[in-house]
Amino acid sequence: MNPSTSRPHVVIVGGGIAGLAAAFFLRDEPVRVTVLEGSPRLGGKLSVSEIAGVPVDEGAEALLVTRPEGTGLIAEVGLAGDRVAPGTTSSAIWTLGALHPLPRRQFMGVPSDLAELARSGTVSGKGVARAGQDLELPPTMRDGDVPVADFVGARFGPEVVDRLVDPLLGGVYAGRSSDLSFDATMPALAAASRRYRSLAEAVGSLLPPLSPVPAGERDRAPAGPRSGGSVFTTLAGGLGQLPAFLAKASGAEVRTTAMTRALSPAPGARGAPDAPGAPGAGPGWRLTVGSAAAADELIDADAVILAVPARPAARLLTGVPGTSAAVTAFGEISYASMAIVTLAYPRSAFPGAGLAALGWSGYLVPAVDGRAVKAVTFSSVKWPHLADVIAPGAEPLEIVRCSVGRIGEEALMQRADEDLAAVAAAELAAATGVHGAPAAHRITRWGGALPQYTVGHLDRVARIRAAVATQPGLAVCGAAYEGVGIPACVATARAAASQVTEFLRGGRQ
Ligand SMILES: Cc1cc2nc3c(=O)[nH]c(=O)nc-3n(C[C@H](O)[C@H](O)[C@H](O)COP(=O)(O)OP(=O)(O)OC[C@H]3O[C@@H](n4cnc5c(N)ncnc54)[C@H](O)[C@@H]3O)c2cc1C
Repeated sequence: MNPSTSRPHVVIVGGGIAGLAAAFFLRDEPVRVTVLEGSPRLGGKLSVSEIAGVPVDEGAEALLVTRPEGTGLIAEVGLAGDRVAPGTTSSAIWTLGALHPLPRRQFMGVPSDLAELARSGTVSGKGVARAGQDLELPPTMRDGDVPVADFVGARFGPEVVDRLVDPLLGGVYAGRSSDLSFDATMPALAAASRRYRSLAEAVGSLLPPLSPVPAGERDRAPAGPRSGGSVFTTLAGGLGQLPAFLAKASGAEVRTTAMTRALSPAPGARGAPDAPGAPGAGPGWRLTVGSAAAADELIDADAVILAVPARPAARLLTGVPGTSAAVTAFGEISYASMAIVTLAYPRSAFPGAGLAALGWSGYLVPAVDGRAVKAVTFSSVKWPHLADVIAPGAEPLEIVRCSVGRIGEEALMQRADEDLAAVAAAELAAATGVHGAPAAHRITRWGGALPQYTVGHLDRVARIRAAVATQPGLAVCGAAYEGVGIPACVATARAAASQVTEFLRGGRQ
């Protein structure tokens, strides 16, 4: 127990969405909570700033509503009224020289309706014919985890992998289907694929019944449910607003520029080198906070939640006896870096009636096509409220977010800002016909942006969780574990908050 208060002290390392959500979930517990964020800014991968006077997210911009954790958190902090739905989620694939509709009946790009695949034009006639073999091939056996590309490629052939599945995985993980784990990135489909001979049928078993599409719209129908039932939401002022609200609503002491450099059992605690005898000695942790240049600040805690990416988590656990298996497993999780290039154009720069006339919320670009930009969001179309934020009398703006950088494309990330903006603008012009230079641009670089759930990820996470569970009052949460999306991160935060609460209530490990 911390001597300065009768309430146990919980320290959360990392002020991204996971750390702040964990603090929020502890708000009604009889504990004192401190959040230590190493950078000068809260929010981690959530951040919003203005471009051309319009608040546009620099990192995460949309939240899945099919999982309740994200929307539930938004409601709990009182922001439900700020939620906005997308104008359209109808995405395209830019390949084979044109924008083609992403088939509606697909799961992470894995198709279930081969006639629709053929109509979409995303793969060649030869690719469609090869995909059709899925319905005839004997079951594809697999022993343990495999790369997505191996399993999907065995069923549908390489074109479906390259032009559909790889771009969708690239959009979520900035990763490649040849490395990413089938079990970890598509757990529901991986499970269903064991029950069906055909992978198309397995996908079909996961999709909701098809809603009717007017005949004329069939080829351009959006992927996912139709309007009114969108699977995404955001906040009117940007998802990047959420961290500040969470921090305030948590009631925690939230510190920025508070880099945690070391973690160890507190002197006298079980596991500490000077502990009088392992069992029976008290729990407790000591954190060393500050820059290498400044004097160390030591903070004692009864429980600690590590809400940081794999690399800092591994560094901090090296000071904790008994966690070497977790340190090793963390070391096996690599991260992709990326940049978001946000461009603002006057509406008249686009042919016809502007971006909305194209009918898409954006497009994905297959890596095999050799472009720098891997995904584009037509932000002012996807989120119509952004188009409304203009000075009276001014020409409406179109805002476009271009995502650059897959795993292994570090050289691209080293290019100068102006260079990245020029490449993104040139590729956008080739895809959409926009003319002239953007009125404004903004580059946001995300080093270590997204953990790669490569083959064996589930086993790695199990090893981490098993090692952490041996440590009294220690828990972990964040994007490195059971999903990189915000709802998944929030779910791990709730679990971590429950684990330390249970521990502090006396059900000690
Ligand atoms: C460009 C981009 C777009 C995305 N888009 C979406 C989207 O639209 N929808 C969606 O659901 N998900 C999206 N994601 C994924 C999602 O945003 C992230 O997976 C999630 O926000 C990660 O949250 P986190 O709290 O686990 O980690 P982080 O956001 O990485 O937060 C960890 C925090 O820990 C801090 N830290 C690290 N080491 C230390 C230390 N030693 N001491 C103190 N602090 C430390 C870091 O500074 C950071 O603030 C996107 C990700 C990126 C990069």
